[in-house]
Amino acid sequence: MTLAQTVDALRRSFDAGTTKPLAWRLAQLAALRRMLTERSAELEDALLADLAKNPTESQVAELGFVVSEIDHITRRLRRWLKPRRVTVPGAILPARASIVREPLGVVLVIAPWNYPVQLLLAPVVGALAAGNAVLLKPSELAPATSAALARLIPEYLDTRAVAVVEGGVEQTTELLEQRFDHIFYTGNARVGRIVAAAAVPNLTPITLELGGKSPVYVDDTVDPEAAALRIAWGKFMNAGQTCVAPDYILATQAVAARLAPALAAAVRELYGDDPATSPDYGRIVNDRQFDRLTGLLDAGTTIIGGVSDPVTRYLAPTVLTDVPRDAAVMGEEIFGPVLPIVPVSGLDEAIGIIAGGDKPLALYVFSSSRRVRRRILTETSSGAVGFGVPAAHLAVAGLPFGGVGESGMGAYHGENSVRTFSHEKAVLTKSLKPDTMRLIYPPYTEAKDRFVRGLLRKLS
Ligand code: NAD
Repeated sequence: MTLAQTVDALRRSFDAGTTKPLAWRLAQLAALRRMLTERSAELEDALLADLAKNPTESQVAELGFVVSEIDHITRRLRRWLKPRRVTVPGAILPARASIVREPLGVVLVIAPWNYPVQLLLAPVVGALAAGNAVLLKPSELAPATSAALARLIPEYLDTRAVAVVEGGVEQTTELLEQRFDHIFYTGNARVGRIVAAAAVPNLTPITLELGGKSPVYVDDTVDPEAAALRIAWGKFMNAGQTCVAPDYILATQAVAARLAPALAAAVRELYGDDPATSPDYGRIVNDRQFDRLTGLLDAGTTIIGGVSDPVTRYLAPTVLTDVPRDAAVMGEEIFGPVLPIVPVSGLDEAIGIIAGGDKPLALYVFSSSRRVRRRILTETSSGAVGFGVPAAHLAVAGLPFGGVGESGMGAYHGENSVRTFSHEKAVLTKSLKPDTMRLIYPPYTEAKDRFVRGLLRKLS
């Protein structure tokens, strides 16, 4: 089948109403859940092959994550799909108004390599729950996971309405030439712009889940050891290849002096004295990323790490301190296990740096001061804010997950996914009798004018 024929087949299924019944949607979610539990070993092996991802971490951040999302949505879907009544203004009464969620049609989901199961399937859960047909495009840079998903998904899901297309730039480019009713893209902002441009001819709505540098601010009101352990966990998970990983730390010299050794101790606690031998520490996805990352190590003072091995693509968890703002490592999203600490004079300078750059996907603050937290919330903009913990916000299904500005547009998870993949249709129902509308029809007499003005005054 050509790509065009694949999309056509999905559209025919959608048009035939295959995906609309609640029972079909719930059955698909249940089947996906079964796939993730019955075939977890195959998927864990694939993640180990692609990213040396520890199976426990794969459960937490990939398979188990999607299962939780399925459970959260399954339990609430019937309620979320009920028409939602809204108030009707007095001038239109008697009448009923409601919002009805309807599926969009055929949705394209394009995923990246770093969490190749979660970032492909979590959006798909939302798309199916909302009653769409879906075409999935896994990342070619996680080839074992891509192959496993392409093999397993047709075994479990309804192939009339769900299809997987593997491939890289060439296939994705051809896919983007097809007409979709929504494109959901996760990855870097350069390709995000390609996706946005491809969406223009058909006015296709898009969600862009992008990345960027997510800053951390630490002040002297918190215990540096406790903060360091949280930061090290969020940073070095998946060898730093996490879109919401802390990218760099802003702290005063005094705080940095206590935080840097605490981070080194945290790395040892998580991965031992030689992380190269830890089964819990991942590897860099490919040579291109490895070369880029090792080129960023030459900045400030290395507190721990800095060691690498091109053969196994091992790059040690690395903490750099006294890093100047114009260092190469501060010029781009790091997306690897390198954690620079940039000295600042205090909160004002930190806020200046954060607010002066691209809006981050996430911003993390370790401070017990309410004033600091309030200032961060009101004086900066980011996809999310984590006070006291990095990355974990994305596991709260009730929170919208997405970026703002350069870190993306749109959001998903839980009900936000259903909203993203639905059209919210406005429905107004008014009986023909009594015909109260007559009072505002022409011809406009003086009496009607007085009535209308009086009514508007009363309503305002
Ligand atoms: P990637 O290279 O796997 O690319 C993502 C997808 O885009 C792939 O499916 C790929 O086939 C496709 N693609 C690549 N080039 C293309 C082109 N020219 N035209 C059309 N499609 C193309 O992943 P990546 O972009 O390296 O991912 C890392 C980036 O993604 C980082 O910036 C990271 O912060 C961001 N990210 C964001 C989130 C989030 O949820 N917001 C999650 C993970 C990663």
